[in-house]
Amino acid sequence: MIVPLADLRAQYRSLKDEIDAATVAVIESSCFIDGHNVDSLEVQIATACGASHGIAVASGTDALVLSLVACGISRGDEVITTPFTFGATTEAIALVGAVPVYVDVDGCTFNLNTAQIESKITGKTRALLPVDLFGQMTDRKILADIAARHNLRLINDSAQAIGALQNSEKIAHTGDTTTLSFYPTKNLGAYGDGGMVLTNNEEVAGMLTTLRGHGQTAYGYHEYIGYCSRLDSLQAAILKVKLNHLADWNEKRRKNADAYNALLAETARNKTELQLPRQEPGNYHVYHQYTIRHPRRSEMQAFLKHNGIDTKIFYPLPMHLQNAYAYLNYHAGDFPIAEQVANEVLSLPIHPELTESQIEYVAEKVREFCNQ
Ligand SMILES: *Cc1c(COP(=O)(O)O)cnc(C)c1O
Repeated sequence: MIVPLADLRAQYRSLKDEIDAATVAVIESSCFIDGHNVDSLEVQIATACGASHGIAVASGTDALVLSLVACGISRGDEVITTPFTFGATTEAIALVGAVPVYVDVDGCTFNLNTAQIESKITGKTRALLPVDLFGQMTDRKILADIAARHNLRLINDSAQAIGALQNSEKIAHTGDTTTLSFYPTKNLGAYGDGGMVLTNNEEVAGMLTTLRGHGQTAYGYHEYIGYCSRLDSLQAAILKVKLNHLADWNEKRRKNADAYNALLAETARNKTELQLPRQEPGNYHVYHQYTIRHPRRSEMQAFLKHNGIDTKIFYPLPMHLQNAYAYLNYHAGDFPIAEQVANEVLSLPIHPELTESQIEYVAEKVREFCNQ
């Protein structure tokens, strides 16, 4: 049996008529930048995520960069973040000239360990940039409390967590900004690049709108050195069609995760090297990834590949050990949990198009590997 890591073609086929009509309508209108599709998508996504403003931009990375700039983060400022994430998080901090300062992660949720944040705060710290990794929110209440006590900005990288909840609160409920990515394989993916910044702060929203359009406050009047970071109308039209299905897809991902949990629970109990992902109480995890741990993960990956199952390592090397960030002078051993996790994680297929028999097959092969 073949089990792919994602199946975007199957998803397109299930929506073909709606997507085709929406894209042709944009081309017929020939309104390719801005316009009503982008405006209404911003309102719909902001509402769905608990924000009063949504500002569509060209990518999830731009959403982070523009958030940092709009929050006044600049050269020499320190931003506390996680070393175990996709590279864009640290990159955004470095691109605005600020200094990424890491705290180690929790080995069960893979999110940053909030208990270590306060020991890293210095006179230069200006912001917290946690990541809701794999679709599970970091503890917003603790983050907001630390940010308030130390007068820090809070930017949530929710690229992987659209639709997640924590104690019934949506991802953009807390913080100065919350960022999304519409990279094609994300839970809500475009047919190209795209992103959005969500905020409840009117002033920040205005600044973001100015920044994304070359820093103009009116056409031809450049108040700031800005960016060219817009979302195409075609992508907005496609995302509007797909947004109607997001809640169902996230439910399907959760059902798939429950199925893996049930099928692998006994093996994880008996073979303690196998660790299943943990959903913290109060969290509605949207399983952008279903990520297990095993000390022989590379062997497991090869075994699954041999049996037709695609898996991926998110992520193989923590940010503090990347060549690009060698200038920060971190070393192996500085964040032991992040380093161990990077050596043991493996993400199994979890996408909403999976069939029950595919899930049973993947679980069977994982059990077979663990028992050999
Ligand atoms: C995908 C992702 C990004 C970047 O999004 P792009 O749209 O690819 O620029 C940022 N942070 C995290 C955690 C991501 O998963």
